[in-house]
Amino acid sequence: MQAKRLAILGSTGSVGEQSLAVVEAFPERYRVTALAAGRQIEKLAGQVERFRPELVAVAEPEGAEELRRRLAGDAPEIVVGAAGLDAVGSHPADLVVSGLVGAVGLAPTLAAIRAGRDVALANKEVLVTAGALVLREVQAHGVTLLPVDSEHSAIFQCLAGQRREDVAKLILTASGGPFRTWDTARIARATVKEALNHPNWDMGPKITIDSATLMNKGLEVIEARWLFDLGPEFVDVVVHPQSIVHSLVEFRDGSVLAQLGLPDMRVPIAVALAHPERLPLDLPRMDLAALGRLDFASPDTKRFPCLELAFAALRAGEAAPAVLNAANEVAVAAFLEERIDFPGIAAGNAAVLDAHARRSSGGALRDLDDVAEADGWARAHAEEWLAGAGGAAS
Ligand code: MG
Repeated sequence: MQAKRLAILGSTGSVGEQSLAVVEAFPERYRVTALAAGRQIEKLAGQVERFRPELVAVAEPEGAEELRRRLAGDAPEIVVGAAGLDAVGSHPADLVVSGLVGAVGLAPTLAAIRAGRDVALANKEVLVTAGALVLREVQAHGVTLLPVDSEHSAIFQCLAGQRREDVAKLILTASGGPFRTWDTARIARATVKEALNHPNWDMGPKITIDSATLMNKGLEVIEARWLFDLGPEFVDVVVHPQSIVHSLVEFRDGSVLAQLGLPDMRVPIAVALAHPERLPLDLPRMDLAALGRLDFASPDTKRFPCLELAFAALRAGEAAPAVLNAANEVAVAAFLEERIDFPGIAAGNAAVLDAHARRSSGGALRDLDDVAEADGWARAHAEEWLAGAGGAAS
């Protein structure tokens, strides 16, 4: 068997580490050719010693120095900064894992696509901020995007062997977050600590707050629209508190396929890394009889307006999702710093999206500069909103 060559963007992050755990469990199947990390040099040095990549990228020159020192004369080629990330993205590999967090992952993921690499995509922002641009590049270079997000992996698995024209609906499941059963008044008083208490998944603070507002599901709706190249009217959301059904696809004959499993990110990561095969993973198995029941409900967009904002941004066109994403990052940071209350997140996002709709320029996404422009405009506008009505209101 020919080993699959992997390049990993974000090797010291959660998806990067879990990808390397798969490599370690199946050493005959994979070979790591390149790793990119930021500032966790000690962890990266350990990965370099274990996986012997040809190329390594770090954020800063001091990091490169430290890495050389730690590897004591046995270092691979080390590259630095944004150019270093691009070099890892386009380094010879059969699959590039896009596991960086935030906007920094967009350029190296595009570099991978332009170099003709298939991409296992974990970095949401790539499709949320630049979906139209990325989709054009994917089509121009004939590469495959393999989703790592659990919902999109589920849809990807349900679509295997199906024709796209037979799809009636992509149905994303949402856990509903910690405030699923709370009324509007109680949500309005929600504290940071309460919002950070997610029932099913253990994640970072930003994505946990996004789960509480349902913005995470909104961002996933945007991601799904581009990943599967279907219009926003084909995407739907259903609340499913147990997080066992990871998502579903309805076909035009009324059949619905779903993918189920215990919530564990190692599964979608392995699906992406092994595609089109499956790995014999040694994980706890789902016991349907022990689960007993699975519940579903419509999302309440009155209590959770962020979900509707994501659909509005998709309908508004190319740059609007990038604007919403940036506004939301500012609003979530402000909530975590207790500058605004919980409903202030949605209010701030709505205000920035409204202002963007009234803007005469900044429509199309032709290149990375357009993405950066939309992002910068939204951040500045969100800060203005915080300093004015938004910040004063709470
Ligand atoms: Mg998800």
